[in-house]
Amino acid sequence: MSADATVAAARTVFDSGITKPLAWRLQQLAAMNRMLCEQRDYFADALAEDLGKHPAESWLTELGFLTSEIAHTIKHLEGWLKPRKAAVPLALLPAKAFTVLEPLGVVLVIAPWNYPLQLLLAPAIGALAAGNTVVAKPSELAPASSTALARWVPEYLGGAVSIVEGGVPETTELLDQRFDHIFYTGNSRVGRIVMAAAAKHLTPVTLELGGKSPVYIDDTVDMAAAARRIAWGKFMNAGQTCVAPDYVLGTGPALAGLAAELPKAIIELYGTDPARSLDYGRMIHDAAFARVADMVAADLAEGAGSVLVSGGGSDAVARYIEPTVLHVDAQARLMDSEIFGPVLPLVTVDSLEDALDFINERDKPLSLYVFSEDKAVRTQFTERTSSGALNFGVPVAHLTIPDLPFGGVGESGMGSYHGRHSIKTFSHRKAVLEKSLAPDTLAMIYPPYGAVKKQLIKRFVAPARRFRKG
Ligand code: NAD
Repeated sequence: MSADATVAAARTVFDSGITKPLAWRLQQLAAMNRMLCEQRDYFADALAEDLGKHPAESWLTELGFLTSEIAHTIKHLEGWLKPRKAAVPLALLPAKAFTVLEPLGVVLVIAPWNYPLQLLLAPAIGALAAGNTVVAKPSELAPASSTALARWVPEYLGGAVSIVEGGVPETTELLDQRFDHIFYTGNSRVGRIVMAAAAKHLTPVTLELGGKSPVYIDDTVDMAAAARRIAWGKFMNAGQTCVAPDYVLGTGPALAGLAAELPKAIIELYGTDPARSLDYGRMIHDAAFARVADMVAADLAEGAGSVLVSGGGSDAVARYIEPTVLHVDAQARLMDSEIFGPVLPLVTVDSLEDALDFINERDKPLSLYVFSEDKAVRTQFTERTSSGALNFGVPVAHLTIPDLPFGGVGESGMGSYHGRHSIKTFSHRKAVLEKSLAPDTLAMIYPPYGAVKKQLIKRFVAPARRFRKG
């Protein structure tokens, strides 16, 4: 089906009104849940084919993640959709004011390859729960997952969600259509293309982008425990996670402590030869492999100034990059752009102040991770940095808390979702005012404005107030 016919079909379903009742929304969520449970093995095989993901990791970060999001949404949806009262100023009484949530219409979801199910279906959960229909475009770079979605979504969610497979031409064709919201996850170069296309129709966008998510560590923490957490967040999905720790900042002694523990943590997670671990993933395609392998090679070349801590091995045929840790300086190739691979640079700073400057001089990160037992240090990060999320003591895990908004700021994106935040993203909050015609209390503000009315208006409509200092 052509892009315009697909969108027209989704619009016909929306315009019919069937998506508005709570029952329809709950039915779609239940159907998606059934699809994920009944076709679990099919999807897990696709994820293994695309990314070498272990079924347990697929459940943790994709299928199970989605079923939890569905359960949370089903449990709370009725409450989230309730009208919300607004206070009415004295001058307008008697009257009732409230807001109601209305669906936007047809939502376009454009998903990337690194969590190909989660990042397509999690926005769809929010869009459906808010009463919209969805046109969704999986990434062509995760072809097995894309095929699995095209195979099963129509069977379980036909009418509610349409899958359009394809790459740049198909996405471009979709972006020519008029949608009521566009939800894009991926890199910021394409984010700009999406936003420009949306501007033509004045369509609101959510951009879930990436960038370098830093870690700061000091020597107040249990280094072995911190190393395990950092290694887990970094090397999951072979480092191809938007919120993976990208690099670590710390003073010399703190990084020396961490560098001593990271190799042990990597062995604990993936054994002495991660190439043989079923739990360790692969790079998505040859170009992604070459990009990361080249950056490592450039930084470890003689005279480049980097020092290998552990790892460094790779196998182009298998698209395998060994979990790698190295000391680098701020000019290293690995510090130029988001690494998006299993390589963790450690960058020495002189002090906490230096670390704060280092972070604040760069693009606002999607996530920032701080490992410090010192409350004053943690407060400095809360008050003096800006990022999509700020986690103390654990990377990545914030996105499993459905009550936390997930999204970036500045170069890492705009808008957010998960749980009730998805409802906000995919709905219009409409203002409603109800005022009976009798008694006509507004008569006191209608012209002509004599002395009495002037006094009344001054008193009731915008009474002059003094505010206390401080
Ligand atoms: P990708 O290459 O799969 O692209 C994402 C989508 O954009 C795909 O569906 C693709 O078909 C489409 N696309 C690509 N080029 C296009 C073009 N010229 N015009 C229109 N559409 C186009 O994925 P990617 O961008 O490599 O994803 C990795 C990036 O995404 C990283 O920067 C990562 O940090 C970020 N990311 C962010 C999140 C988040 O939730 N914030 C999640 C995952 C990935």
